[in-house]
Amino acid sequence: MSKFWSPLTASLVPYVPGEQPKDKTYIKLNTNENPYPPSPKAIEAIQKAADADLRLYPDPTCETLVEAAAGYYGLSASQVFVGNGSDEILAFAFAAFFNPEKKLLFPDITYSFYKVYAKLYGLQTELVPVNEQFQIEVASYTADNGGIILPNPNAPTAQLLPLADIRKLLDANTEQAVVIDEAYIDFGGESAVSLIQEYPNLLVIQTLSKSRSLAGLRVGLAFGSEELIDGLNRIKNSFNSYTLDRLALAGAVAALQDEAYFREATDRVIATRERVTHEAQRLGFKATDSKANFIFITHPEIPAKSIFQQLREKGVLVRYFDQPRIDEYLRVSIGTDEEMDAFVAALGDIVAG
Ligand SMILES: *Cc1c(COP(=O)(O)O)cnc(C)c1O
Repeated sequence: MSKFWSPLTASLVPYVPGEQPKDKTYIKLNTNENPYPPSPKAIEAIQKAADADLRLYPDPTCETLVEAAAGYYGLSASQVFVGNGSDEILAFAFAAFFNPEKKLLFPDITYSFYKVYAKLYGLQTELVPVNEQFQIEVASYTADNGGIILPNPNAPTAQLLPLADIRKLLDANTEQAVVIDEAYIDFGGESAVSLIQEYPNLLVIQTLSKSRSLAGLRVGLAFGSEELIDGLNRIKNSFNSYTLDRLALAGAVAALQDEAYFREATDRVIATRERVTHEAQRLGFKATDSKANFIFITHPEIPAKSIFQQLREKGVLVRYFDQPRIDEYLRVSIGTDEEMDAFVAALGDIVAG
C-alpha cells in the first residue's frame, strides 16, 4: 500500500504468472510454453526486420499481419484484430464489450486472469460452476448477464467443448458479447472461428504463444464481426496505437505462413501428451481428457501439494493451484519426450515413496 496509489490501484489483485526461474537447471513444465522452437522462417523474418527501419514506428493498423490472419481463416481484414499477446486482447475485450450494469459470467475453474480484468474494469462477476468432471455445462449459462467469457479448451482443466455446445451457448445469449479464448485450440479442438459469420456477438481470441512457439514475441489474434473488431480498435487507439512492434509483425506473419512446421510441432506435442497421460495413469494418477498442451492430473492418495514440492526438489517445475476444488490437481505442460521421460521417472519415484 502506498499513499501515491489511486483507489483503483489499491483495490487490484494482480495476476501471478508461473515462475520463470533464472537458472536453467529446471525442467519447466509450469507455463504451457511450447518445447519446440518457433518456425525457422519466423526467426529469419525477425532477423531481417531488425534493420535501420526500427527508427520508424510500426504500422498502427498491423495490415500485413491482419491480412495474413484473415487469409488463414478465409475472413476479411475487417473481421480480424491483432494484439500484444492475447492477454492484451482479453483486456481490451473486457473494456470494450462487457456491461458493468450486469454480471459477467465465466467458469468457477478457469484462467485466473479473468477475475483480474473484471476487477480492473469494475465489472460484477458470476462464477458458473463446472460439473464434477470439471466440464463446462453451457446450459448453466442462463442468468441475465452482461457478457460471457470462457476458454476452449478450458484452463487448467484441459477439457474441450464441442462446437455444437458453443453454438448452443450463442443461441441462448444473443444480446451480449460472448468471448471464446482459444489459446489451446490447435492441440485437438475445432475453432469457433467458423461461427463468426452467423453470430455477430462472438469474439474468438487466439495466441501465437502456445501452438506457434512464440510466447516471447507477444502476438495474439482475434476474430469477430466488423462491429466487434471496431470496438477493439476504439479501445486500442485510446490506449496505445502501436501495440505490436516491427519484429513481432514480421515474425508473426512468417509463422502463420509456415503451416507444415506448425502441424508437425503440434502433432508431436499431442503424441507426447497421449503417451504421458497413459504413463501417469499407470502410476495411479487420474487425468482429465486433455485437448491442450498440458495435462491436469491427480493422485488418489498422495496430496498434490506434496507431489508439487517433491517434483520441484527433483528439478521439475509444474503448476499447483492452491484453490478450492482443484487443490488436489497438478497442471503439467507437455515438454519434449526427454523432458517428459524425466517427469514420469520423478513421478514414479514419488509414488514409490
Ligand atoms: C496462455 C493463455 C493466454 C495468454 O496468451 P498470451 O497470448 O501469451 O498473452 C490467454 N488465455 C489462456 C487461457 C491462456 O492459457
